[in-house]
Amino acid sequence: MANRILVCVAWPYANYLLHVGQAAGAYLPADIFARYQRLAGNEVVMVSGSDCHGTPITVTADKEGVSPRDIVDRYHPKILEVWDRFGISFDLYTTTLTENHYQTVQDIFLRLLERGLLYTSTQDQLFDPQAGRFLPDRYVEGTCPICGYADARGDQCDNCGSQLDAVDLINPRSRMSGATPELRQSEHFFLKLTALENDLKEWVGKQAHWRRNVLNFTLGMLDEGLKDRAITRDISWGVPVPVEGYDDKRIYVWFDAVIGYLSATKEWAQRSGDPEAWKPFWQDPDARSYYFIGKDNIPFHTVIWPAQLMGYGGLNLPYDVPANQYVNYSAGQKQSKSKGTGTWMLDLLDVYDADVIRFYLTWIMPETSDSEFREDDLIRTNNDVLIATWGNLANRVISMIHRNFDGRVPEVAGRSPESLALLEETRQAFDAVGAEFNTCHFRSGLQAALKLAQSANRYLDDRAPWKAVKEDREHAAETLNTALTVINNLKTLLHPVVPFSTARLHEDLGQQGRVLEQGWRFQEVAAGTQLPAPRPLYTKLEVEAPAGGQ
Ligand SMILES: [Zn+2]
Repeated sequence: MANRILVCVAWPYANYLLHVGQAAGAYLPADIFARYQRLAGNEVVMVSGSDCHGTPITVTADKEGVSPRDIVDRYHPKILEVWDRFGISFDLYTTTLTENHYQTVQDIFLRLLERGLLYTSTQDQLFDPQAGRFLPDRYVEGTCPICGYADARGDQCDNCGSQLDAVDLINPRSRMSGATPELRQSEHFFLKLTALENDLKEWVGKQAHWRRNVLNFTLGMLDEGLKDRAITRDISWGVPVPVEGYDDKRIYVWFDAVIGYLSATKEWAQRSGDPEAWKPFWQDPDARSYYFIGKDNIPFHTVIWPAQLMGYGGLNLPYDVPANQYVNYSAGQKQSKSKGTGTWMLDLLDVYDADVIRFYLTWIMPETSDSEFREDDLIRTNNDVLIATWGNLANRVISMIHRNFDGRVPEVAGRSPESLALLEETRQAFDAVGAEFNTCHFRSGLQAALKLAQSANRYLDDRAPWKAVKEDREHAAETLNTALTVINNLKTLLHPVVPFSTARLHEDLGQQGRVLEQGWRFQEVAAGTQLPAPRPLYTKLEVEAPAGGQ
């Protein structure tokens, strides 16, 4: 029976290009997961969108003297281009600027207000007397109260990494006018997290299947005790507060962005022609939701968003939050073709095939600890793993069938024990790899698939069909037929990781339709199938001067 699976992926700010760390941290794992679940016959909806509110957007806009919407209009299409070229298979990638999103946010706001989970209170805030306005944290600079760094931002010190409160800065100055800000009182809405703390503790305590770092971080946060948090601010860019008398305030971006998961599912349903279709994904307790994010986003997905959902009532809480660690990029490493801009996805995609990047990022995916992205390592992994273990295997077998059997899959009279054992290993690989992908262990899922490729390579070496074909044609026919069957199934097993090249291989194996339609199951290639002329799946790359990803 099909399960319903909602794949939620972090919302990037629409004010910069996507870098490789974000791709490896959230988007690629989400995509592998979604593709696997679709292959397994489950009903999947994968959503995200560009986060268009918040001071990162307005700071960029102010710097350039344009409107926040101009910034969004510039970067949102580039983000969409990354998804398209990198093969991230969203069912909907939208923005937080839609009418539907505003309505959904205001609906949640009003329900929480009605239930006594929002209240107003005044807060000391920095005010720029020259500009005549309150200053969001990022609009204030000053000396870090912790390390003494002179150019700390109001929300964070880039020197010591501490999270700061703008009112604690020493010698604060406004980034708008340079004036010294003064403290003034401002009235805001607060989310009563303290009232939800016990329910959150009880719920988190039951999530034994979460990654250890996610669970421990969340429990630590709850043990320290939650504080009520302001959910509005004195700015003019954002979702309006749906209560009279607050025209000069907007809903804080952290409160609005996570609601995007819900509003995007609703928008997906509207676009699909069945406006109610979002409901089973959010209301049926058997549906599961997965949130793919980087570790810096854990609190918003294991505490804040669940608190909003609990307060609202009747909607599913996250089933899993498989947050990843970081991918680091060392600036001192040897430069190669992308000239130090190798961290930006669009630049990387100009140089390397999407599948080569996907394979490498899965190979080093930071599931349990930080990992390091290196272009020379990407090239070595392409040559020594992707091609040596998998690409050559497919290419060799298809070429030998062309050379010796006119490109037709040979008939088999009977199978020897070693052929039967390899086919059995292939059948079992669907369970082994599927179990890893289903539990968000993408690195080990890939390794389990490659283990089967290694077995197939050993089998070929042992039986040497290139020699056997001269003295025992039936022996060679059995070997090539068996190896081709394994390749056809490895195509499916590897499809979530390298979807473009396996789709090409699907055609090269003379198969109809799409890989997706084959399903997550063992399938033979019928003897007699005519294979198109062989073409290499991947291109060998040079470490010194990359030959380019053709
Ligand atoms: Zn500092």
